[in-house]
Amino acid sequence: IKLTKEKATHPYPDWPAGDPVPYAALVKTFTLIENTTKRLEKLSHTSLFLRQVLRLSPDEILPVVQLIINRLAADYEGIELGIGESLLMKAISESCGRSLQQLKADHKETGDLGEVAMKSRSTQKTIFQPKPLTIKVVHAGLKDIATTKGEGGQGRKVAGIRKLLSAAKGDEAKYLVRGLEGKLRLGLQERTLIVSLSQAAIVHEREQAGKKPPTLEEMTAAEEILKTVYSELPNYEIIIKEMMKSGVMSLQETCKLQPGVPLKPMLAKPTKSISEVIDRFENQQFTCEYKYDGERVQLHYVAPNAKTSFAAVENEQAGIAKIFSRNSEELSPKYPDIIASFPKWVAPGTESFVLDAEAVAWDREQERVLPFQMLMTRKRKDVKEEDVKVRVCVFAFDLLFLNGESLVQKPLVERRELLRKSFTPTPHSFSFATSTDTTSLTTLTTFLDASLSASCEGLMVKTLTGSHSLYTPSKRSTNWLKIKKDYLLTSTGDSLDLVVLGAYYGKGKRTSVYGAFLLACYNPDTQTFESICNIGTGFSEAQLQSLYNQLHPLEIERPKPYYSHAQGNQEQPDVWFDAKVVWEVKTADLSLSPKYVAARGVVRDREGKGRGVSLRFPRFLRDREDKSPEDATTSMQVGEMYEKQEVVKGGEKKAKGGV
Ligand code: ATP
Repeated sequence: IKLTKEKATHPYPDWPAGDPVPYAALVKTFTLIENTTKRLEKLSHTSLFLRQVLRLSPDEILPVVQLIINRLAADYEGIELGIGESLLMKAISESCGRSLQQLKADHKETGDLGEVAMKSRSTQKTIFQPKPLTIKVVHAGLKDIATTKGEGGQGRKVAGIRKLLSAAKGDEAKYLVRGLEGKLRLGLQERTLIVSLSQAAIVHEREQAGKKPPTLEEMTAAEEILKTVYSELPNYEIIIKEMMKSGVMSLQETCKLQPGVPLKPMLAKPTKSISEVIDRFENQQFTCEYKYDGERVQLHYVAPNAKTSFAAVENEQAGIAKIFSRNSEELSPKYPDIIASFPKWVAPGTESFVLDAEAVAWDREQERVLPFQMLMTRKRKDVKEEDVKVRVCVFAFDLLFLNGESLVQKPLVERRELLRKSFTPTPHSFSFATSTDTTSLTTLTTFLDASLSASCEGLMVKTLTGSHSLYTPSKRSTNWLKIKKDYLLTSTGDSLDLVVLGAYYGKGKRTSVYGAFLLACYNPDTQTFESICNIGTGFSEAQLQSLYNQLHPLEIERPKPYYSHAQGNQEQPDVWFDAKVVWEVKTADLSLSPKYVAARGVVRDREGKGRGVSLRFPRFLRDREDKSPEDATTSMQVGEMYEKQEVVKGGEKKAKGGV
C-alpha cells in the first residue's frame, strides 16, 4: 500500500542522483527487515529501497540485489561466501586491535560473530575517518575475498576482510561479517525479494513514464512474470539487464530458459501406497517410469556454430556441453565420460537442448544398473576420462529445451515425443527412462516389481497430458509422485534429508569417534535449522571412523545463532558442527516431543500448543552429497508427514473400532 502512494518516504535520505549507493543505505534496510517478523513488512522495506536505487542509481540495482540475497553471482558460477569462523576472528582482531581472547569471550556471550565485530568496531578509536563504504566497494571486496585461492590465499582473504571492516561504521560491520559467514539472517526469502523487485520495477517504470501508479492487478501480474522468468532462468545478471532495457512486463518474451543457465529441477511428492497414486490420478492420463537410483543431472548443449545465440554462452562459435547438479553446481569435471559420449547419442540436426536425467552407475558386462553407493565412489573433481572405473549410463526422462525453444510450458506427452525423436539410445551410454502408460492397478504393481528387479528404487508416476503435466521448475508437485519400495514399509511414506548439527562421543569401544549425532530439518521461513532427533543406528564401525574424519574439521565452538534446539544441559551434544552435511534418514514414525523443536510453528498438540516433532527409531541410510543444507527436508514437510501419519492412525483406530 505504501508503495502505491505518490510520495513514499524512504528511511534513508536520498543520495545525489548518479552517485554510488552508500552501503549504509542498504544496512539501514537490513536492520528494518531484521527487526520485523512480518513478511509483508519485510517486502515493503525491500521494495522501497530498491525503488530508491532504481530512481537514483539504476546502474547499481544488480549488485544491490546480489548483496541482499548474499550471492555475488548465479549459483552455477560457484562463487561462494562462507568464510570459516577462525579466519573471520583473525581479521576482526587485526582490524579492531582486540585480542582473539577478548573476541572469543564476546562470541561466547552473544553467539553472533556479526555482533562481536560491530561491538569491536564501535569501541575502537580511530585517528582518521576512512571513506564511507559503498555498494560497489563492498560487492567488489566480497567477490575478491570469495574468489581468492592458491598460495597465500588465506592471508589475502584476511587482508581483504580487514580492509572492509576498517571502513565499516555502526551496523555495517555486523552485516559484513554475517555476509562473509554466508548467512545474513534477515529472515528474507528469495521469493520475497523477487516480489519486492517486481513491485519496485513496475512502480518506478510508471513514475518514469509520468503515468498513474500500477493497480494491484498490474502489480500481481508483474510479480507472476518475474517469478516465472526467474524459475526458468535463474540468473539476475541476464534478467535485470533485460528488465532495465525493456521493462518488467515484457520479460517473459525476452528471458526464457536457455542452455548454459541451469534451472532448479521439478521435484516429486512421496506416496505411501499404490492406491494413493490411483486416487490422485483418477480420470487423468499418467505415465509410470522407473525411478533410477543415481545422481540427478541436467545436460546442457549448444552445437558449435549453432544458429541461435544465447546470453550465457560465452563463446558461441565453440558451443557448449555442460552438466549441472540438482543444486545448479557444475558437474562437468566429475563426468567427462558423459560429455565425451554426447556425439554418440545426439541425433543429427539437434542443435541445442537441456535434458533432465539421472546418471546411474552401470555394469557394462552384466548390462545392469549398479547401486548408488558405487556412483558415490567416483571422484567429484578433475576426473580424467581414461581413469574412470565406475562407468555411468544416462537415463533421460525429460526434455526442457530443444533447438532454440523452451518446452517447459508444453505437456509431458509432447516433451516426451520430442525427447524420443531427438536422441538415439546408445548401449552403455544413453537410454530413455523405462516407462509404461497405464491406469490399471495390476499393471502398476507389476511394473513396480519390474523396476525393483532392475535395481531401481521404485517408480515415478507423472501426469501425462493437459495443464497439470507442464514442467514446473523447483516445485515439489503432486503432478509427479514417487513410490519407493521403502515407503511401502514405513508409516511416514518418506525418508528425510537432515542436516548434521552436532555429535556425542561414543561409549565403550567408540570413545575416540562420535557415536551419535544431532540432526535437524530446515525452516526456510525463519532460515533456521530445527533439531529433530539424535541418531546412533545404522552405522558400521568403519563408517563411524570415516564420519569422524569427515566431520571433525567442521567442529565449531558453539552452536550458530540459526540453530534451534531445546535448552538444558543434558540435551546438548558434546560437539557442534558447521551445518554442511546432509544425510538421508529413515524413520519408523514421527512423534511429538518436548526436546526437539522441528516443525514447532506448524504442528499443534491437543491443547493447541505448538509442539516439536521428532523421529522414532531413525536409521542412517546414506550421505546426500548432492544436497545443500538448505535443500534438507523442511519444517513444513515434517509437519505434513506428521499430520498425514496421524490421519492414517486415526483411520486405523476407527477401523479397529477404537476412538
Ligand atoms: P530422492 O531422495 O527420492 O531422490 P529428491 O528430493 O532428490 O528425492 P524427488 O523429487 O523427491 O527428489 O525424487 C525424484 C528424484 O528421483 C529426482 O530428483 C531424480 O534424481 C530421481 N529420478 C530417478 N528416476 C527418475 C525419473 N524417471 N523421473 C524423475 N526423477 C527421477
